[in-house]
Formats: sequence, structure tokens, C-alpha cells
Amino acid sequence: MLRLFGRRGEVQQVERVGEHFRLITIGGNDLVDRAWTVGDMTQFSFGGWESRAYTPLSYDAARGSLEFLGYMHGNGIGSAWLESLRIGDPCVLVGPRTAVNLDVVTRPAMFFGDETSFSTAAAMRATLHGYRAVSFVFEVTSPENCAPVLDRLGLDEATLFRREADDRHLDALERHVLGAFQPSMRAVFTGKAASIARLYKAARREGISGKQITNVAYWAPGRKGFSGVQR
Ligand SMILES: Cc1cc2nc3c(=O)[nH]c(=O)nc-3n(C[C@H](O)[C@H](O)[C@H](O)COP(=O)(O)OP(=O)(O)OC[C@H]3O[C@@H](n4cnc5c(N)ncnc54)[C@H](O)[C@@H]3O)c2cc1C
Repeated sequence: MLRLFGRRGEVQQVERVGEHFRLITIGGNDLVDRAWTVGDMTQFSFGGWESRAYTPLSYDAARGSLEFLGYMHGNGIGSAWLESLRIGDPCVLVGPRTAVNLDVVTRPAMFFGDETSFSTAAAMRATLHGYRAVSFVFEVTSPENCAPVLDRLGLDEATLFRREADDRHLDALERHVLGAFQPSMRAVFTGKAASIARLYKAARREGISGKQITNVAYWAPGRKGFSGVQR
């Protein structure tokens, strides 16, 4: 159980970034000098077997602190926890642990995701090549609400697609991603499981090698607490 094996931390900063996001800094002695591969996630424990995954966008090994951006979609313990967080609150976490290794993503690169992926996208900045030659594409519920959040993360050049009923926006999104794909490109697909699966299949149909693409599903409607199974 995570509470038995987890590390203890404390909320050091809470920044409200728009209505639906919180930029959280967690710190503590247990987090000093941990191994961190950019793209690793941390799992926060909510008692028993319940935990939720979030991706540090930065980690300071000397200070023992990590920072992540959490999206409050409004319907889960993770979402409610983010909204409730105050400086000094204790927490129990596991990780950083493997989710996607962004350090090995060569350029040019394509990064696809949604609101839950902004923190992972921002973690690209901590890689050797930073944001250079990365095309960021996101499906989001409200481009108006997300644009200032992406500005805050230095991701203002990202291309946003507004979600539509029955995922109709994915037709245009798929065309955009495949149209921008270059032969030597690496791709990282994160976020909603069904969107990733669709993009992956479309890319494979276009002859793009599966080795060029890393998929990590972050959530799926009706399912709780994804931990990130990599394919
Ligand atoms: C490896 C990994 C890294 C992740 N990193 C981040 C991160 O850095 N920042 C971040 O914000 N999230 C991140 N996530 C996603 C986050 O863990 C999930 O959104 C998680 O479900 C949130 O927990 P919850 O308790 O709020 O909702 P849950 O209790 O898990 O789910 C309750 C309901 O809400 C739905 N739901 C979950 N997420 C969404 C959503 N985004 N939009 C609409 N409905 C949703 C579920 O389908 C379910 O029906 C990551 C996930 C993984 C696997």
C-alpha cells in the first residue's frame, strides 16, 4: 500500500493558474537526491489502494522539491484534492517513477495530449533540447481557458483543438498531426486513451513506424486512477 511504502512530502507552493489548474510544489527530506528521468510521474496516495498520477515538470534533487501542474476536471478525488491544497498540507507519494522517458525523444518531435498533459509537455523544457523543434498539439475543452495556462508554461505556440461532440474535432486534429509529421520525427501521445489509440492507428496506417511513437494513456471516461501503461 502506498501509505506504507510512500515518501512524505509537504505542499510548499500552490499557484492558481486559471480556473481549472493548480501549479503545485511539493517538498521534503524524503525527496532529496531521488533519481528522476524527465517524464517520470509521481503517484499521490489517498489512503488504501487509491492513488492518482501527476507528472513533475521540474525536480530539484538538492532541495528535494518537485513541481507539477494539475488539471481539475471536477469529478474525482485527485481533482478535489488539487482544489483543496494549501501550503503546509502533508502528502504521501511514490516516485518519481517511470511513465515516459522524455530525455530520449529526439528532434524533431510531435507531442500530443490534453489538459492532463500540460505538465508533461512542460517537462520537455528540462530535456537537453528543451522545447526546440517540438510541435505541441492539444485537444481541450476550452481553448480560451487553456491559452493563458500554456502561456505561463512557455507553450504559447501550441496548436489547440476544441473538443466537439462525438469527438468530431479528431478528424481535423488527425489531419493536422499527420500533415505535420516528418519522416524522422518522434512522437509522444498522452492524455485521453481513445484519442491516443485513434492517432496511433492513423499514424501506423500512414506508414509511420510504431518505434517512432510512445503512447501513455492518462485517463478514459468512466475509469478511475490510471497509472500509465506504456506501449
Ligand atoms: C502517467 C500519468 C501521468 C499523469 N500526469 C498528470 C499531470 O501531470 N497532470 C494532470 O492533471 N493529470 C495527470 N494525469 C491524469 C490524472 O492522473 C487523471 O486525470 C486522474 O484520473 C485524475 O484523478 P481523479 O481522482 O481526479 O479522477 P478519477 O477518480 O481517476 O476519475 C473520475 C472520473 O473522472 C474522469 N476523468 C479523469 N480525468 C479526466 C479528465 N482529464 N477530463 C474529464 N474526465 C476525467 C474519469 O474517467 C472518471 O470517470 C496523469 C496520468 C497518468 C497515468
